[in-house]
Amino acid sequence: MNRYDYVVVGSGIGGLYTALLAREHGSVLVLTKGSIDDCNTKYAQGGIAAAISKNDSPELHLKDTINAGDGLSNEETVRILVNEAPARIADLVGYRVPFDTLEGEIALTMEAAHSVPRVLHAGGDATGEYIEVTLSRQVRSLGVQVLENFLATEILVEKKKVAGIRALECRTGTVEEFGCRYLILATGGAGQLFKYNTNSDIATGDGVALAFNAGAEIADMEFFQFHPTALRMSGVIPFLISEAVRGEGGVLRNAEGKCFMADYHKKGDLAPRDIVARSIVNEMKKTGSDRVFLDVTRLPPNTVTARFPHIYRFCLDHGLDITRNLIPVAPAAHYMIGGIKTNSWGETNIAGLFATGEVACTGVHGANRLASNSLLEAIVFSKRIIERTGTKSKEKAAPIPGNKAIYPSLGQRPALRALSPAGLAALQQLHWDKVGIIRDKEGLNQAADTLAVWQQSLLPPTDQSSYELSNLILTGRLLTEAAFIREESRGAHFRTDFPRSTPKWQRNIIWKK
Ligand SMILES: Cc1cc2nc3c(=O)[nH]c(=O)nc-3n(C[C@H](O)[C@H](O)[C@H](O)COP(=O)(O)OP(=O)(O)OC[C@H]3O[C@@H](n4cnc5c(N)ncnc54)[C@H](O)[C@@H]3O)c2cc1C
Repeated sequence: MNRYDYVVVGSGIGGLYTALLAREHGSVLVLTKGSIDDCNTKYAQGGIAAAISKNDSPELHLKDTINAGDGLSNEETVRILVNEAPARIADLVGYRVPFDTLEGEIALTMEAAHSVPRVLHAGGDATGEYIEVTLSRQVRSLGVQVLENFLATEILVEKKKVAGIRALECRTGTVEEFGCRYLILATGGAGQLFKYNTNSDIATGDGVALAFNAGAEIADMEFFQFHPTALRMSGVIPFLISEAVRGEGGVLRNAEGKCFMADYHKKGDLAPRDIVARSIVNEMKKTGSDRVFLDVTRLPPNTVTARFPHIYRFCLDHGLDITRNLIPVAPAAHYMIGGIKTNSWGETNIAGLFATGEVACTGVHGANRLASNSLLEAIVFSKRIIERTGTKSKEKAAPIPGNKAIYPSLGQRPALRALSPAGLAALQQLHWDKVGIIRDKEGLNQAADTLAVWQQSLLPPTDQSSYELSNLILTGRLLTEAAFIREESRGAHFRTDFPRSTPKWQRNIIWKK
């Protein structure tokens, strides 16, 4: 078995940025299950948040992040996030990420629930692609070893410490093991749980399943963010229409042409994401339509094409000129807020195991993520992982003081009869219908029962798709059972039977095998 100082799993922003920093401290291997640029990172449009303007401050960024988090953000990690943001942006500039500029200064845009324009972007609405291409180019040119088409399938733990990772070569089916001192999971989210989602095909919850099976703690899984505006055209994928479109003046209209967001929130079209998503669902119900519309026809066409070239081009390729026509949109699953619980150094409860990016739960997002904080979270905490592992200190890092927590266990559920077989389409439909934007006890209970039976009936996985299905089912169980337990509404978690938040639930739900 080959041994490395660092094995990094995943090649989005979290994995690549960690690998670039880790190479200064030892040998590094990156494993990734597709090609290097198969990830969610490259789809990020809006940008990356940081308090770099004269009118802004880390304190204001902290306030906005905590407000969005709806009582569950961890103030210590949020403070780290906002204070370290400008330096990490400088690092990206140093790696030559070409952020857009205006009159010689980095251009900043506004997004929902930010109090000032604070979002840096690149290529107009192609921020993630520019970051991914830049970092992967650096990784290649610096000779970091990357193995593509390697699916991590099991974390190897010896004497309660990480010893390495087992992986499947997806094309040949051979299994290999790689030893390491530090294993960093940067495997991204789990949007593929839902029928309508904005995510890449790789987002199958693998990291959560790997870590849970190895004994790591998994937190806040009930909070899954639904983006209010994904394209809804028949036969077209639910392509994201960035929040920045509303930041630049786009307005939502229902199927009858009425602007409605002012009826729901004082910030109107720039209300927090969960509120916009639920308001859209309500308007769709009221008008008997499966979509609403985003209107940018009043903006100067040049602004639309220059600021959102990617969105403009995608829609035009599907027969829709958005400078003249309304954009049909509906909400879609977007971002996994919970994940592998880490402290402020990206460390999990298993020695040698770290997590970064969307798969990690650092506590910064609380119950709801502030737009454009996730790319930032990945680079801030990846840097801290390398600071932590690169020092000689053997001292155990302090746990993060945070909210109270409850530790339920994932038990058995009664067997169901006449159940449809587990499959990706059935699983996505189940989550969309029962564990989606609007939840209740009955639906969650049905979903939890079904998932438990599916999990029991699975044969041991042998290839990429069977591993991914098994990971999705486990991740879905952790999400659904947590949503069932949390008898309140908070942030991205909304239940019609408990429509308000209660102080008693200002606590985290943490799973551990
Ligand atoms: C359409 C869209 C728009 C977005 N816009 C923004 C935005 O404007 N601003 C913002 O801050 N955030 C945005 N986000 C969220 C943000 O892009 C992601 O949270 C972030 O890019 C995640 O980075 P990551 O490195 O954690 O994961 P990813 O970029 O998803 O990378 C995960 C990597 O892990 C690999 N992997 C997964 N499982 C395994 C396994 N078992 N074995 C081996 N490899 C594995 C994958 O192949 C992939 O390379 C957006 C997300 C989407 C989908």
